Amino acid sequence: MRVVNLACNECGAPLVVPKSANYVTCEFCGAQLHVVREGGVAYTEIHELAERTERLEDDMARLKASEALNRLDADWQQEMKKYEVRQKNGEASIPSKQGAVFGAGVAAAFGVVWMIFAGGLVAGSPFGFAAVFPLFGLVFIVAAIGTGVMAYQKAEAYELRKAQYERERRKIIEAIRGEV
Ligand SMILES: [Zn+2]
Repeated sequence: MRVVNLACNECGAPLVVPKSANYVTCEFCGAQLHVVREGGVAYTEIHELAERTERLEDDMARLKASEALNRLDADWQQEMKKYEVRQKNGEASIPSKQGAVFGAGVAAAFGVVWMIFAGGLVAGSPFGFAAVFPLFGLVFIVAAIGTGVMAYQKAEAYELRKAQYERERRKIIEAIRGEV
């Protein structure tokens, strides 16, 4: 068998190819090569079709992954609304643990201040029914703590779900990187 010495166009490895061969697969890098003969000189070229098919498969995988990413993001955008809290000015915000603790603290402090002031005012009052005024502060404190606990739990649920979403997102991105 007459052979010809060529070099892989992809990795440069020496290849011994039957003289009549038009295509050869490099045993070192696996590249599919086209044997080109021009004016008595032979050399290898990456087999365009094989390369294009591979590129197409890569593109398809990347496309699928980016679709999955878009879907995940869209789902998360939708789900995030469940955690949103409408503020008085109409703006939506996501509750935070610190915000819940701070809000409850401020409201409870207001209740304490109310009790002290109202208590001072009614101390010398001749009207007996006024004695309930300081107790409004107590109601306020209880309500503040209850609201704070609920906001805290909501913030915690949001954080857990967000971490899960971010994990899933990272996994898809890693998969895309792995394909390339
Ligand atoms: Zn090669």
